[in-house]
Amino acid sequence: MTRKLIKDGTVLTASDTFVADVWIEGSKIVALTDPSQRAALGKADVELDAKGKYIIPGGIDAHTHMDLPFGGTTSSDDFDTGTVAAAHGGTTTIIDFAIQPRGESMRKGLDTWHAKAEGKAAIDYGFHMIATDLRATALDEMGAMVREGVTSFKLFMAYPGVFLLDDESIMRGMLRAGELGALICMHAEAGLAIDVLVQRALADGNRAPVWHALSRPEVAEATGTERAIALAEMAKVPVYIVHLSAQRALERVMEARDRGLPAYAETCPQYLFCSEDDLRREEFEGAKFVCTPPLRPKHHHEHLWRGLNNYDLQVVSTDHCPFCIKGQKELGRGDFSKIPNGMPGVETRLHLLWEAVREGKITKNRFVEITSTAPAKIFGLYGKKGTVAVGADADLVIWDPEREKVLSAETLHMRVDYSPFEGKKVIGTPAAVLSRGELVVQDDKWVASQKQGRGQFLRRGTFGL
Ligand SMILES: [Zn+2]
Ligand SMILES: [Zn+2]
Repeated sequence: MTRKLIKDGTVLTASDTFVADVWIEGSKIVALTDPSQRAALGKADVELDAKGKYIIPGGIDAHTHMDLPFGGTTSSDDFDTGTVAAAHGGTTTIIDFAIQPRGESMRKGLDTWHAKAEGKAAIDYGFHMIATDLRATALDEMGAMVREGVTSFKLFMAYPGVFLLDDESIMRGMLRAGELGALICMHAEAGLAIDVLVQRALADGNRAPVWHALSRPEVAEATGTERAIALAEMAKVPVYIVHLSAQRALERVMEARDRGLPAYAETCPQYLFCSEDDLRREEFEGAKFVCTPPLRPKHHHEHLWRGLNNYDLQVVSTDHCPFCIKGQKELGRGDFSKIPNGMPGVETRLHLLWEAVREGKITKNRFVEITSTAPAKIFGLYGKKGTVAVGADADLVIWDPEREKVLSAETLHMRVDYSPFEGKKVIGTPAAVLSRGELVVQDDKWVASQKQGRGQFLRRGTFGL
């Protein structure tokens, strides 16, 4: 078994900061030792110098959509390009969303997503299941999904006719999830009302990208969030609000948590770093920023940062769902409702959040927690993933806090023809990325002999916060 040593780095976990040598055998971390003891511990086959750099657990992106058919097209990254891009940005695990085809089985949805990922994914991956139909057969199938390591289910209160579930279905799904120890992830918006507002905006001749945001107001997300939490309270189950974007939605989560309810939520970099102003950019450029929920006015940012610091928000994931301008976003020229919803992000999450560390918005340890440790715990991967500890997978990033990088679609690896952060200079980037003990990215280049197909499917455990 190959023995690797990462020497003299400063290990960052969710709770601790310490200088250590990290010893790896095969795919696992086998020891964390004081560098002064090195001579007594024998030789390594490969040594990586991390002096002056941080060693962090590989990022876990709990919300991606690779190869997703949506809005008359398909997200532009598949499990090959999307996971390679993730690794370049320091993310070594993704949890993507399989979809139960409407009126069909979850089994069929899971088989379809396994086929999309197998032989393609370059890093480890798990699946959530999007439930589109919760009649009795599907409730039975939820048990089979959990036994196969698909331990979380996303339900939608938006997109009528595509994903939206009524309260009866949501309640049945929640009760079943409670029996199984599975977690319900909710897309919380008042979707039926929103669709009327969208039709009204179009009828009034309001067709520009910004109307995507103006027809999905903050209150639509706040009331969805409140209803999701209320249903979970009735069902006596935890609930995880995905892609929370707005102050008033956050306040619903805070109130619930103050009452002791197991309500959790994630936000995404686009809600922390972009705003409704971006949707107002000229010449259809706003289409680059169309995602759901929509970007909000800038004053929401400070609330989301406070939510992250106060533990009302637990996770920052990306909702990575890229569509090219050419041929994809363009479908909505002259009709905002036809712009495919989604933004690229899987590669730039750590870069952007490290900027927040540099600006003093979050601590280094909180950075590790929201990008890796908390999603590992919530989604049943902790111990294997999500920390730097003996016995854990050696999914590690040697993070160079000094090195600059300019974010640009040309140099990033996501298969999409724009970057929402084009030209933005960031300081701090991965010097090296290891996945299960294997060096996969070094100095921004893929260096492992295998690429496509080296990622393994992760059978996740049940909710563990
Ligand atoms: Zn969603
Ligand atoms: Zn999503």
